[in-house]
Amino acid sequence: MVEPSPATDSEIETVHDPEYVAMVRHVGRALVPAVRFGLGTDDDPVFEGMHEAAALVVGATLAAARSVWSGATAHAVNVAGGHHHAMRANASGFCVYNDLAVAIKWLLSAGAERVAYLDLDVHHGDGVQAAFYHDPRVLTISLHEHPATLFFPGTGRPHETGTGDGAGYAVNVALPAAPGTPGGCGRLTR
Ligand SMILES: [Zn+2]
Repeated sequence: MVEPSPATDSEIETVHDPEYVAMVRHVGRALVPAVRFGLGTDDDPVFEGMHEAAALVVGATLAAARSVWSGATAHAVNVAGGHHHAMRANASGFCVYNDLAVAIKWLLSAGAERVAYLDLDVHHGDGVQAAFYHDPRVLTISLHEHPATLFFPGTGRPHETGTGDGAGYAVNVALPAAPGTPGGCGRLTR
């Protein structure tokens, strides 16, 4: 067990716009919505200390990545992590900061030449894919229910394979819904 420190703004801003980080901090104090940033929506309601809570999640995933990279552990998990829908400048799908993308950025900065990211969830890992869609150093693989039967987030079709230098480094395995479970785990479960 490792007690993590919250991620710093500069760590979070390797993935997120500084304006967005400032807004998350603001709404978590003023308790007002900022819908342009996805804050104060049904999925991402504003709450007191929103930035601090989300930064701690990122810090825990960073601690996990660092412990593996340093060789201190062979495997690590952050059971509070996995906020794969957060985008550069907006919250989405219960995700405020993309802890996974921040950890991958850190691994690259630490010297990792290639990172494989495997996303197993009923929903497409759209935020992580977006963060590295141009980057051939990061292979993103997402297994999820097909967007034709599960509308959130509406992406993750097999033809999404990356762009530019990153072409071929995004893999999307869109699976049919299990019989009797139309819509998968439902809109309110991300
Ligand atoms: Zn999900």
